[in-house]
Amino acid sequence: MVSESTPQVPRVIGRAGGTAGPVVITIAGIHGNEPAGVEALIRVHERIRTESIALTGELISLRGNRRALVQEERYLAHDLNRMWRLKRVSDLLDAWREFGTSARANSIAPNPEELEQVELFDEIAPYLSRRSVHLIDLHTASAASVPFGLIGDTLRNRPLASELPLPVLLGLEEHLEGSLLEAIGNFGHATLGVEGGQHRDPSAVDCIEAVVWVALSVSGLLGPRSSEWPAVVEQSRNFLAEVGRGYPRLVEVKHRHGIEPDDEFVMRPGFENFTRVVRGERLGGDRTGPVRSISDAHVLLPLYQGRGDDGFFLGRRVSGVREKLQRWARLLRIDRLVRLIPGVRRVPEGSLPGLVGAEILEVHHSDYFLRCELLPALGYRRARRRGEHWWLVRRPEWPTDAHEAR
Ligand SMILES: [Zn+2]
Repeated sequence: MVSESTPQVPRVIGRAGGTAGPVVITIAGIHGNEPAGVEALIRVHERIRTESIALTGELISLRGNRRALVQEERYLAHDLNRMWRLKRVSDLLDAWREFGTSARANSIAPNPEELEQVELFDEIAPYLSRRSVHLIDLHTASAASVPFGLIGDTLRNRPLASELPLPVLLGLEEHLEGSLLEAIGNFGHATLGVEGGQHRDPSAVDCIEAVVWVALSVSGLLGPRSSEWPAVVEQSRNFLAEVGRGYPRLVEVKHRHGIEPDDEFVMRPGFENFTRVVRGERLGGDRTGPVRSISDAHVLLPLYQGRGDDGFFLGRRVSGVREKLQRWARLLRIDRLVRLIPGVRRVPEGSLPGLVGAEILEVHHSDYFLRCELLPALGYRRARRRGEHWWLVRRPEWPTDAHEAR
């Protein structure tokens, strides 16, 4: 191990509560230039201690990328939040089961983030087989923004989203290969990502802390009855409701504008998260010319500074009616009928190694309605190109025991 990469800060920010009941895992600083989440979690644990708040489950708070946090860099060699691909997580899990640590899954000359990943996974792995696990991943952004939540599109994640009085993005993680949230979501656990505001803005710490208190109440860690919850929960809800006033509540991600370094993509100035744009509006440009909006939409995560391969995303507001329809369609298993539609083929389970309990449907590239409207509404969001076809993956709605049995 290289001495200058030896971290100076502990992995565990705090542990509270007992070992029975629901589990909430909070992770801060998976990007090392985002210390606001760490600060917020320190405050949460401090309050639990000083106010003797009783938890009906366990709260574990972890630093994500310790080595990068020390150096205040987003990452040192690789983005730790893009390294949780199916194969890698499956290798980590196998190694952890066999040796009690996932270190064996490492290459001989690991880079700093591979070490971080192993250490972080070893903290999370003991909880993966538990029934009720919520994983909350805390971030900030380079640009000023209203704070917002991110959830993968499973029914399990919806209660967290609907109780959070902030805008919530649905299905962003399905567009990002290898995020930690996606990996944990693949185990059937509830996940919530949080973008708390701008990196060095003190209010980002306040917002993240408030989100954590709301999430602790929703996940059942503060007891079943709201009358028993500490006053900070209600204060946090009111604070966030004020911050998020005027923004759409639930926005589904419909389009990602991915970029390569030699695209020379430049975002046009003036866009913020959730800015409304119309079809054809110029959003930026690259060496081939103007880049325009493909539909009436909300702009999400416009790239103005820093490294990244996402130019921007476009999202569409999900109305209350549409949300209910999607929910009922899934509860009634309308998707069983979808498989009978000509052009939809069910891909045998196990076709994507490492993905347990997920369902995969295949549609032709040209079938836009099925691919971009109907199947995503039923939760089939994770798209992978297979020649002329797309595989659309729906993650398990509930934790599967397959990991245990495998
Ligand atoms: Zn981040």
